[in-house]
Amino acid sequence: MSVQPTPLPPGLFIVSTPIGSARDITLRALDILASADVLAAEDTRSLRHLMAIHGVAAGGRPVISYHDHNGAEVRPRLLALLGAGKSVAYASEAGTPLVADPGFALVRAARAAGHPVTAAPGPSAAITALSIAGLPTDRFLFAGFPPTTEVARRKFLEELAPVQATLVLYESPKRLDRLLSSCREVMGDAREVAVCRELTKKFEEVRRAPLGEVDAALADMPRKGEFVVLIDRGSEAASAADLDDALREAMRTASVKDAARQVAEALNLPRREVYQAALALAKGE
Ligand code: SAM
Repeated sequence: MSVQPTPLPPGLFIVSTPIGSARDITLRALDILASADVLAAEDTRSLRHLMAIHGVAAGGRPVISYHDHNGAEVRPRLLALLGAGKSVAYASEAGTPLVADPGFALVRAARAAGHPVTAAPGPSAAITALSIAGLPTDRFLFAGFPPTTEVARRKFLEELAPVQATLVLYESPKRLDRLLSSCREVMGDAREVAVCRELTKKFEEVRRAPLGEVDAALADMPRKGEFVVLIDRGSEAASAADLDDALREAMRTASVKDAARQVAEALNLPRREVYQAALALAKGE
């Protein structure tokens, strides 16, 4: 099977590239990379390397760097090339552009200016993780990288916690443990999590456990490489009235502490939150 350079119509081509294994590039992506008048990339070195692996030469074509830090300056140049009837292929460093990667402002501006925009779809770490982790895929919510400060991360997770969908997060190895412990505090011990590491690469692995057991499940996993964290949905959010009813019932036979534990487990709610509600009930508030 060979790359087929073919004249492309004018327009912007959003090209997905592999997230690990170089052979995950699609044939159509290679055709576009071989044929576009102009190549643009978040990381021009990675794109040139990928093209070299697959025997696609840049030749005398421009290879333009376009990323978050120079987008405002470089975008007008790319739009001018589109305006001059050129075909422009854009790739981010890995995976699908615009998915936790640059490209959004470029696509919007190209569309606003009336240029055709199309894609050579391909790998994305989010979809790859969902496809192998064994958590439900009927509904999912991609939330990208969590904030790095503790307060902002908690708020972010509190907003996501009640969503009835599998949550998909990207995280760096050095922040993975902090993220998992924030998830546990906010979402409780029972929620299932899948930590997917080095997808499509030599050390690919997926570890799944309830948040309460995740430390043990990940004890011997190197905090190295790239990670996707998937979090199962919680049970349908219990209303405050449901919670109070369940607590009153449990407190007929159990102490405040034990009742809070039982109800938190039964309703899959964070223990601390349920304990506060139980204390308030016990005090007659
Ligand atoms: N655009 C890419 C995509 O479509 O998935 C994502 C780019 S984002 C800057 C990079 C993050 O994606 C990494 O920090 C990691 O969370 C995730 N990621 C990328 N490749 C991965 C891989 N092979 N295995 C696990 N996670 C990966």
